[in-house]
Amino acid sequence: MKNSCIIIGAGLSGLVAAHELVKNNWEVLVLDKGRGVGGRLATRRAAEAKFDHGAQYFSTKTPDFQSFAENLIQKQIAKEWQLQEGSANFRHARLIGIQGMSSIAKFLAEGLSIKLSEKVIHIEETNNGFSVKTEAGNSFEAKAIICTAPAPQAIELMTNSHLNFPEIAQLQQIKYHPCIAVMANLKEASNIPQPGGIAFENGPIAWIADNYQKGISPAYAITLHASPAFSSAHFDDDLMEVGKNLLKEVENLIPSDSIDSYQVHRWRYSLAYERLDENYLRAFTESPLIFAGDGFGIGSIEGAYLSGKSAAQDLIKT
Ligand SMILES: Cc1cc2nc3c(=O)[nH]c(=O)nc-3n(C[C@H](O)[C@H](O)[C@H](O)COP(=O)(O)OP(=O)(O)OC[C@H]3O[C@@H](n4cnc5c(N)ncnc54)[C@H](O)[C@@H]3O)c2cc1C
Repeated sequence: MKNSCIIIGAGLSGLVAAHELVKNNWEVLVLDKGRGVGGRLATRRAAEAKFDHGAQYFSTKTPDFQSFAENLIQKQIAKEWQLQEGSANFRHARLIGIQGMSSIAKFLAEGLSIKLSEKVIHIEETNNGFSVKTEAGNSFEAKAIICTAPAPQAIELMTNSHLNFPEIAQLQQIKYHPCIAVMANLKEASNIPQPGGIAFENGPIAWIADNYQKGISPAYAITLHASPAFSSAHFDDDLMEVGKNLLKEVENLIPSDSIDSYQVHRWRYSLAYERLDENYLRAFTESPLIFAGDGFGIGSIEGAYLSGKSAAQDLIKT
């Protein structure tokens, strides 16, 4: 009988783990609570406009991730975004999804067995692995689980499942910044200088990007990310009011009469600023239960990739 694994989360780490397992002849099912794949590799449409409202770009530090990135470039899924010093403090090449960041996840999802709108709410150990229940009322079984949900959500799932193993204390060390993201449809071009991305070191805004200049949106569209401090302080405020105030802060770049409409998204978990050093965490359950994602190793997109891959390799080895 084939080895089988349920992967919780169709973000980058889950998709990469799935590929690694499938390549090694495992039977894999990926479950995600969202309506699309990608998790925080997120791209949204509003009228003619398209916004990357989660991750904005990635760079490569390790040879392994570099060859993954080169493959994306070769397949015309990703390209370089020429952010230069001067417009912001960028030392390395920054890469983006040509059709938006979520297109990287869509590319990886091809050929995998993925079920969306399936929020895992309960996990039970069985004689032969695990049985997983979802909010939609479905059950799935597998010999192993890789859980890539952000650590606080993974802890909540384990607690609700009465899987109270000591490794949970380690997961509790992982911490994420929140992020309030504003997406504005513009009637005309913004005043953001080329190539369309500015990182701010101080103040309520951390980042602003012109999705039109970035090349992902056919219409004028900007994404603005509030700083971690501002996002924490205003996370539960009226979002449209928060969006209006943030847009006012950048009136020189986006004159208010150029704004056609805007929407606001709240990310409870954006960047993992406290992470575990290792690339994944294995629980000492009878059957393999592994935690992976950007809360491990170097974090961010590259960290998520390395974490998903090494979690799967650990499973294959054992
Ligand atoms: C606003 C913002 C800006 C960012 N900017 C950058 C950037 O510029 N560069 C960079 O490198 N990184 C950036 N990041 C971080 C980057 O997006 C993440 O590090 C990376 O995408 C994490 O991938 P992951 O697979 O670990 O997690 P995720 O993408 O979060 O995937 C986890 C998945 O698990 C699913 N899930 C959770 N719980 C359950 C459950 N119970 N049942 C089923 N499914 C579940 C979720 O729906 C999600 O799809 C940013 C993130 C945000 C939010």
